Amino acid sequence: MRARTYDVAVIGAGPAGAVFAKEYAAAEKEKRILLIDGQTEERPKVCGGLLSPAAQKVLAKMDLTLPKSILSDPQIFDVRTVDLPKHLIRHYQRHYLNMNRYAFDRWLLSLVPPTVDIFKGHCCSVTRGQNGFLLQIRTNGVMQTFHASAVVGADGASSLVRGIFFSHMPLRYIAIQQHFNPHRTDTVPPYSCIFDPVTSESCSWTICKDGEVIFGGAFPKKNCKASFEHQRARVEEILGISLGTPTKTEACLVCGPRRPSDLVLGGDSVYLAGEAAGFISASSFEGISGAVLSGRLLARAFSNGKTPDAVLHLYRKYTRALRLRIIGKFFKRAVLFSAPLRYLIMKSGLLSIKKFDI
Ligand SMILES: Cc1cc2nc3c(=O)[nH]c(=O)nc-3n(C[C@H](O)[C@H](O)[C@H](O)COP(=O)(O)OP(=O)(O)OC[C@H]3O[C@@H](n4cnc5c(N)ncnc54)[C@H](O)[C@@H]3O)c2cc1C
Repeated sequence: MRARTYDVAVIGAGPAGAVFAKEYAAAEKEKRILLIDGQTEERPKVCGGLLSPAAQKVLAKMDLTLPKSILSDPQIFDVRTVDLPKHLIRHYQRHYLNMNRYAFDRWLLSLVPPTVDIFKGHCCSVTRGQNGFLLQIRTNGVMQTFHASAVVGADGASSLVRGIFFSHMPLRYIAIQQHFNPHRTDTVPPYSCIFDPVTSESCSWTICKDGEVIFGGAFPKKNCKASFEHQRARVEEILGISLGTPTKTEACLVCGPRRPSDLVLGGDSVYLAGEAAGFISASSFEGISGAVLSGRLLARAFSNGKTPDAVLHLYRKYTRALRLRIIGKFFKRAVLFSAPLRYLIMKSGLLSIKKFDI
């Protein structure tokens, strides 16, 4: 740790924060960058750990290839989409990579140049002072103060930075996941997406990963635990699978942006990237691609913008296509989550894999 005064402090070392720090430090070697890493192995990011084609494309643009050690077993070729009340199941081809999410985050972090100060801890407060920002970081019960001229909130769905500086938060669900070691994994879909308006306006899923089955879902905050239990029971009963006793239960917030105004890029030397900015798919909760891409584009805006306003202007310009893609997902969600439209699409078999086609 060289200094307690930085040009920029990045809160959150997930994909958005790590990629921002990596790219900005590589372009501007003399800049003093602080990256606050709040994730621990004991409490890893709750995630399905599926790397979408959009995320693979962003990594390819950065000339990155994924180490094999990050991949999980099995690799998945399709999503089994289930309309639970209608007992309707369709398979759709998907090109995701199934991976260990914690290993992925640590790998991205390992790419951050040594000129960046990576500090383990939890940022408890950010206040605007006369010459920048004061940050209070707690590590093992000890509070330390840092100073920075600019702040990047890459702190995900529970963003402290967005909460302090930008009042409007998008709709958020509680995502709950349980891990199981069932006797027979062959009865559980390797990857499924389950629509069941009985328990949630959102969806639930199963993902097989390294001998485990993850069953998860996103639920409105009210009665989320009971809704999750109800959903699990319905899935086991209707799909005829037995998950057994969970070995682990985890939960976190997940954003469900619905309007263009849910996407907030920043202002007055405070910038948001990744899910904190609202860059997550409203239809599938796919958020790694938006996190990596926005981190990268914000780094470019920092390099090319000479003033805070210019940085924001460039960030807005660079993220135009990404914002349009996220807004497109609002419409996709409206179709997929409308019970009659979803039924019509699934019933028609449009774009689905017909198992007995030659
Ligand atoms: C259950 C679930 C399943 C998902 N599955 C997928 C999937 O399969 N594929 C996919 O693409 N997306 C998935 N997503 C979405 C995806 O995980 C996120 O959108 C993505 O991780 C966002 O990246 P990020 O860097 O913006 O934020 P995050 O990955 O959330 O990283 C934020 C980081 O900031 C840290 N942090 C937060 N607050 C503080 C603080 N105050 N001080 C210090 N550090 C802090 C956190 O510890 C974390 O490390 C899923 C989300 C959930 C909830």
